[in-house]
Amino acid sequence: MEYDTLILGAGAAGLMCAAHAGGRCLVLDHAKAAGEKIRISGGGRCNFTNMYAEPGNFLSANPHFVKSALARYTQWDFLDLVGRHGIAWHEKTLGQLFCDGSARQIVAMLLDEAAKADATVWLQAEIIEVARTESGFRVVTQNNGRRKTVTAANLVVATGGKSIPKMGATGLAYDIATQFGLSLTDTRPGLVPLTFPPERFSGLAGLALPVRTSGGGGAFDEAMLFTHRGLSGPAILQVSSYWREGDEITVNLLPGADAFQTLRDLRTQAGRKNLSTMLAQVLPARLAEHLSTEWALTGNLADQSDKALRVLADRIHGWTLTPAGSEGYRTAEVTLGGIDTDALSSATMEAKTVPGLYFIGEAVDVTGWLGGFNFQWAWSSGWAAGQAIQTRLRR
Ligand SMILES: Cc1cc2nc3c(=O)[nH]c(=O)nc-3n(C[C@H](O)[C@H](O)[C@H](O)COP(=O)(O)OP(=O)(O)OC[C@H]3O[C@@H](n4cnc5c(N)ncnc54)[C@H](O)[C@@H]3O)c2cc1C
Repeated sequence: MEYDTLILGAGAAGLMCAAHAGGRCLVLDHAKAAGEKIRISGGGRCNFTNMYAEPGNFLSANPHFVKSALARYTQWDFLDLVGRHGIAWHEKTLGQLFCDGSARQIVAMLLDEAAKADATVWLQAEIIEVARTESGFRVVTQNNGRRKTVTAANLVVATGGKSIPKMGATGLAYDIATQFGLSLTDTRPGLVPLTFPPERFSGLAGLALPVRTSGGGGAFDEAMLFTHRGLSGPAILQVSSYWREGDEITVNLLPGADAFQTLRDLRTQAGRKNLSTMLAQVLPARLAEHLSTEWALTGNLADQSDKALRVLADRIHGWTLTPAGSEGYRTAEVTLGGIDTDALSSATMEAKTVPGLYFIGEAVDVTGWLGGFNFQWAWSSGWAAGQAIQTRLRR
């Protein structure tokens, strides 16, 4: 069976590419349904893009790589598509755009666009073999219990990263890249809760507060959540992408306030109060109690010198923590690292050394922040490859 383009992966990037590649296009995916990660994303409402998406929101060994694709297919282009499909949406916070109804609307929209472009989608199609031929590529697949061989001039790898293996994530993209001599950057889980010894925060489980987290060059003002296993919430997920095993993270527990001045004012107003009671005036009571023990706070506020208050204020603004680890690919929203961007054209996503071979989406060493950026990368990179293929087919 001959096609112009084979796309491996009917996820966000693969379906976007299928909607734009033109010609005879076949999408293969081993899952039972297309776009499963879209379906479960954003708590079922899909945070499909971000109003403020720009290159600075992405991690990659080459921070310039994203620029071309993001500039040519922007968040406004995707929003326009969403609008044309009559999907109602809203901004939740920080420019994050969600469906009013269901993430399934985004999956349906992409499948509709792919169908309009005459693309065919085969689900439950295991990829058995990928090989180069004289005129392009050959893929052997096991589909509906039958082994089939399909060929095409173009092969697009859109099988994503390793996060959430339970949902069908595999390292196929990395295997194919290696097979064709493309280099990889180290992969690790991103946007993932950080773990601590069980006794450390279990007493605080369920407590959330606004903080500023920082570490590894990233800093984020969002909510942090204590859990039985450690720390989670957007502020932690964001900083986890910058965190490396063994490193510290810093949590500013009173962002936007001057803890030293606040403590001095409290000393004037209520000097007889003990330190832990006072701490509960500026932080949630359970956390104040926990920190009073951890920092061995004793005595009244009135007994504290400016120097002692300064030390305490610095601790509040810079609580340093060394996570034991992360929850790993089991719960990570994304995979950091992947196909080395040096091996790809930033305009087309085509492999520089293998004409007709493209890598898009999460498989590539491009990872967005939390907040709709990862889907925007899937749309932009999928569109870039689709356009390039369409142009190639017209030649
Ligand atoms: C719980 C969760 C919530 C998320 N929420 C958001 C959000 O709200 N906003 C946001 O921007 N990002 C979110 N993300 C991240 C986002 O889902 C991904 O960045 C995005 O889906 C990547 O698109 P992709 O097309 O590259 O890969 P995917 O969407 O993962 O698609 C890859 C496809 O390839 C198929 N595949 C994999 N291996 C094989 C194989 N060996 N053979 C055949 N097929 C294969 C898979 O079945 C899948 O359909 C979330 C992720 C998770 C896990």
